[in-house]
Amino acid sequence: MIGTETQPLRVAIVGAGPAGFYAAVQLFKRKSLLVQIDMFDRLPTPFGLVRAGVAPDHQKIKSVVKIFDRVAKKPGFRFFGNVELGKHISMSEMLNHYHQVVISTGAQTDRNLNIPGIDLQGSHPATEFVAWYNGHPDFRHLEFDLSQESAAVIGIGNVAVDVARILCRSHDELSKTDIADYALATLKESRVKRIHMLGRRGPAQGAFTSPELKELGEMEDAEVLVRPEEAELDPLSEASMVDADRGTTRKVEIIQKFACSKPIGKSKKLYLRFLLSPTELVGGESGRVTSMKCVRNELYATEAGTLRPRPIDKHEVIDVGLVFRSIGYRGVPIPDLPFNENWGVINNEAGRITDLETGQFKVGCYTAGWIKRGPSGVIGTNKPDAAETVDKMVEDLGANLINHPLDPDPSTIESLIKQRQPDYFSYEDWLRLDQIELENGQVENRPRVKFTSVGEMIDAVKR
Ligand code: NAP
Repeated sequence: MIGTETQPLRVAIVGAGPAGFYAAVQLFKRKSLLVQIDMFDRLPTPFGLVRAGVAPDHQKIKSVVKIFDRVAKKPGFRFFGNVELGKHISMSEMLNHYHQVVISTGAQTDRNLNIPGIDLQGSHPATEFVAWYNGHPDFRHLEFDLSQESAAVIGIGNVAVDVARILCRSHDELSKTDIADYALATLKESRVKRIHMLGRRGPAQGAFTSPELKELGEMEDAEVLVRPEEAELDPLSEASMVDADRGTTRKVEIIQKFACSKPIGKSKKLYLRFLLSPTELVGGESGRVTSMKCVRNELYATEAGTLRPRPIDKHEVIDVGLVFRSIGYRGVPIPDLPFNENWGVINNEAGRITDLETGQFKVGCYTAGWIKRGPSGVIGTNKPDAAETVDKMVEDLGANLINHPLDPDPSTIESLIKQRQPDYFSYEDWLRLDQIELENGQVENRPRVKFTSVGEMIDAVKR
C-alpha cells in the first residue's frame, strides 16, 4: 500500500517558500503516513519570501525558518535548489517520479497599474525594489536613482509600508540588518527626503496592519505627516466603524494620532495620503518621471457593502522623481498547468489543480500558497492554506486517486537532476552557505551578509 514503510508516498514540492514548507510540515505530521518529500526551488537558497521579501529590518519575522529547518532535517526530506520546473525538469517528468506534486511557487511578479507614463524612467514596481534590497540574485543588477529628493509609493499595503520605511531608515538603522551590501551602499548615498505614500481609499480601508503602521512613527530620522482633513473619516467609513475589528480601529487611531502631531524636524518626511489616486506620471525631456498627476476620490458603497473609491473633480500634482507602485503581487503561469488569468493563480479547488474548462481534477497535481489563493495574508496564513491542500492529498491517497509514477525510485530522479543541473544545491549545501553568511555577518555585527549571486553561491560551497 502506498504511504507505508514498503512503499512511501513520494511527493515533490516545487517552491521552497513558506507555503511549500508548511505543506511539508503537514505531510510529516499525518499519522500512519510514510512520506518522502523532495523540495525544489529555482534558487540555490530556500525560504522564498522569508529571505527575499520580508524586510531586512524585520528580523524577528524571519525566525519562522527554524520551523522549516527542523522539517528539512527530517529523514525522507531532500532539497534540490537551483533547479527550475520548466527548465531543468518538466511537469510530465515530475509525474514520472512522484505520486503527488505540490506547486507552491508564490506570486513572482506585480499587478500592473494602467496609467499614462507608468513606464517612464524612475517608475518601478515595488516588488522589484523589495527583491533588489533583499539581494535576490535576479534583481541585483537593477538600478534605482536615489539622487531624487522626492519619491512616491502608490498603495498602502504592507509592501508599500516596507518600501517607504526602507527609504526612510537611516544608514545606522539599515547597517544592523541583513540588507544586501550593494543596497546598503546605495541607500547610504540616498538623497530621498520626501516620500508620498498614496491610498486610494481612506484611513479605515488601509491594507497595512497596525503594528507596521505604528512602526512608521518610530523611525530614527524620519517622521510621518498626515493631513488632519484626510485623517477624518467620511460618513460611510464612520458608519462602518460600528462593527470594525480591533485592527481597523487601531489603525484609524494611529493615523489620527499622526495627524495631530507636529513636525519635529527629522530629515525625512513620509507624507501618508488618503483618498488620492495617481492618474498620470509626467516625464521631463530626459524621459524621467518628474511629477505625478492625482485625482481625489470619494467613497461609495457597493451592493455587497464594501466601500470603493471613485474620482471627484479635484486634482493635484505632486513633484516626484521616483515612483514605486505597490498595488499587489501577481502569480505567473507554470508550463503545462491551467492558469486562471483573472485571478493570477493556478486553477484549483481547495488546492486540487483543476482543468480550466472542464473543472476536472488533474490527478496528482496540487497547489499551495499565493499561487493557489492569490497574494494575500502573512506568512502564518500559509499554514492553514497548506493544511487544506494536504487534507485533499491524504483524502485522494485514501481513495487511490493518485498518480502512479513509472519510476518512483528516489535515486533515479536524483541522477536525472545531477545530469540536468550539476550545480544543484542540497540542503547540506545550503547549510554550508548559511554558515558562511552568518559568520560574515558576525564580523560586521549584522545578522548575516547575504550572497546575492548564484555564481558566488556555487563558488562558495561547491568548488
Ligand atoms: P495588499 O495588502 O493587497 O495592498 C495593496 C494596496 O494597493 C492596497 O492599499 C490597495 O488599495 C492598493 N491598490 C490596489 N490597486 C490599486 C490601484 N489601481 N490604485 C491605487 N492603489 C491600488 O498587497 P501588498 O502590500 O503587496 O501585500 C501582499 C500581502 O503580503 C498582504 O497580505 C500583506 O499584509 C503581506 N505582507 C505582510 C508584511 C508584514 O506582515 N510585515 C509585509 C509585507 C507584506 P485597496 O485596498 O483600495 O484595494
